[in-house]
Amino acid sequence: MRLNFSLMIESAIKQYLAKTGHQNLNIKGVMFDMDGVLFDSMPLHAEAWVKTFTQIGIPFTKRLVYMNEGRTGAATIDEQFQIHFSRHSSTEEQQEIYHIKSGIFKQMPKPGLIPGIIDVVRYLADNNIARTVVTGSGESSTLERIEQNFDGLFNRELMVTALDVKQGKPYPEPYLMGLHKLRLSPNEALVVENAPLGIQAGVAAGVFTIGVNTGILDKSDLEAAGANLVFDNMRQLLEALPKIVQQ
Ligand code: MG
Repeated sequence: MRLNFSLMIESAIKQYLAKTGHQNLNIKGVMFDMDGVLFDSMPLHAEAWVKTFTQIGIPFTKRLVYMNEGRTGAATIDEQFQIHFSRHSSTEEQQEIYHIKSGIFKQMPKPGLIPGIIDVVRYLADNNIARTVVTGSGESSTLERIEQNFDGLFNRELMVTALDVKQGKPYPEPYLMGLHKLRLSPNEALVVENAPLGIQAGVAAGVFTIGVNTGILDKSDLEAAGANLVFDNMRQLLEALPKIVQQ
């Protein structure tokens, strides 16, 4: 392993321990975000959200979709109502608009896996490290594909989705629920995220949070959100994992 790569990881762990007051990182489980981490679904979500908001007269960009990623659909809709209509959205409006978005998304081709993610998940399984998925999504079509696409390396019972939490990302609740389901303390887990709000949620839950920049944002967007480490792709994460889980 390249020396500077190794030192970067060591230093990130030291900073995490100093900030949280934990004595060590003792990794027994990893919590993965779904969109943009397991599935290359963000380009499709971005297109579907932009089309949906355009239909109701709200200007929206793909960058905004990526910056809002991790929020529940309801929260994203409500924020745009406040910005553009100076009022909150009703539950009915949220459901109706999310229904439009979901309908557009379902007609799109099924997203493939993020390159290299299967090797990351398999490495963890081979080393007896638990895995789960913590997502702001409630897209049943994608959620159902996790178990089949990952050869049973994820268990539906341990997953946390939009339907399980009151306050989605960037609040820590989804990742705290993930820790609870895995029966782990914050210093016994990792979060793998691609989105700024998801990173904020992982950090707020006290977990060592790794950003993998799989989308259109800049690496600095993920760093600014507080990620303990940011990688460009899953190959780099796979290279780093032995250093993080066996230190
Ligand atoms: Mg994501």
